[in-house]
Amino acid sequence: MAVPKRKTSKARRDKRRANTWKLDLPGMTKCPKCGEYILSHRVCKSCGTYKGKEIIKIKEA
Ligand SMILES: [Zn+2]
Repeated sequence: MAVPKRKTSKARRDKRRANTWKLDLPGMTKCPKCGEYILSHRVCKSCGTYKGKEIIKIKEA
């Protein structure tokens, strides 16, 4: 069975575990119009646009 040749150093081990990007929600981007965080390939919930076009009307206060 394959066995690691060298002990993984503390720095290397900690660098591996420091992958904070995994905490980011996948497929989340910012809306180009209103800057809200939105799911990509979906109509923006806060302004109702997708690819620069208004798809749904959002009632404003
Ligand atoms: Zn938007």
